[in-house]
Amino acid sequence: TSVVNQIAAGEVVERPASVVKELLENAIDAGATRVELAVERGGKDLIRVADDGCGIAREDLPLAFRPHATSKLREAEQLHHVRTLGFRGEALAAIAEVSRVRCQSRTAATEVGAELLIEGGVPAEIRDCGGPVGTVFEVRNLFFNTPVRRSFLKSDTTEAGHVAEMFTRIALAHPTLHLTFRSGSKTLYDLPPVTGLKDRVAVFFGRELAESLLWVESEVDGIHLWGYVAHPSQSRSSAKGQYLFVGGRYVRDRSLGHALSEAYRGLLMVGRVPVAFLHLELPPEEVDVNVHPTKVEVRFRDSQRIYGQLLRTVRQTFLTSDLH
Ligand code: ADP
Ligand code: MG
Repeated sequence: TSVVNQIAAGEVVERPASVVKELLENAIDAGATRVELAVERGGKDLIRVADDGCGIAREDLPLAFRPHATSKLREAEQLHHVRTLGFRGEALAAIAEVSRVRCQSRTAATEVGAELLIEGGVPAEIRDCGGPVGTVFEVRNLFFNTPVRRSFLKSDTTEAGHVAEMFTRIALAHPTLHLTFRSGSKTLYDLPPVTGLKDRVAVFFGRELAESLLWVESEVDGIHLWGYVAHPSQSRSSAKGQYLFVGGRYVRDRSLGHALSEAYRGLLMVGRVPVAFLHLELPPEEVDVNVHPTKVEVRFRDSQRIYGQLLRTVRQTFLTSDLH
């Protein structure tokens, strides 16, 4: 472990919420149906993610924490494109570099699980442990060995807020996942699996907004857009109620936010911003989702086309509903 490694780790791990994102995405990639998230002191002291996914085989456990060791590229190449959320194999290595990690995991192939402790990038021996099939990650004392970074973290409440936002994005993107979120001694969310996005929206934005949602969908030249837009009366004073997912991954895109506003033109009160939950599925060559590991920006090959499709699809929905 070295300063170079620690700097590299800082590229991936900015704050507790970035750890939460990586751990939740890994759980989803592992095929989990149930994922439990718990944090202490906004994630600064502890982030714990337990999943019922496929688990990590004992012999693969140290590998999982090695930089650029991923089990996902092979499979991805077979599929000719990347479907999983993570594929760089950077996250666990980076997290372990700047914290104290305990990972317990078991696959269906064995009765006994394996546990690995890593402190500041230094792994200990692998030990046996009990537990169901799946994986538990505990990440303690984030940035304990990089005090300057630690000092840049905000208050517990603020960091917990970032974690909650990350949780919200994942929960909206994966309605069929059973998700729980505990912060300190409080269970903030216990979300049973639901069949549709609408029910998840209700949890985070209220029934009234959820009931106002209008379904939008279009497919043009292999670009599939679908989701919900809220009734103009449910608009907000900020863009915080705008969720766009590309290939199941939360992204932010100024231009598409603008397309949405254009579609609502004439329907909103001054200073109000539409609420929407939209998914885009496009051929892999149409989008670069990995501009930067921690960033939520993507690069579209032809952003004008997607802009136009979004604008027309939402407009069309308004025209065919009793809204004008
Ligand atoms: P990536 O997700 O990009 O492959 P990570 O560093 O996030 O890289 O994870 C490294 C590897 O560890 C993964 O490729 C996967 O094989 C394994 N792994 C991580 N988390 C889990 C999990 N919750 N369940 C099963 N395997 C996991
Ligand atoms: Mg990952």
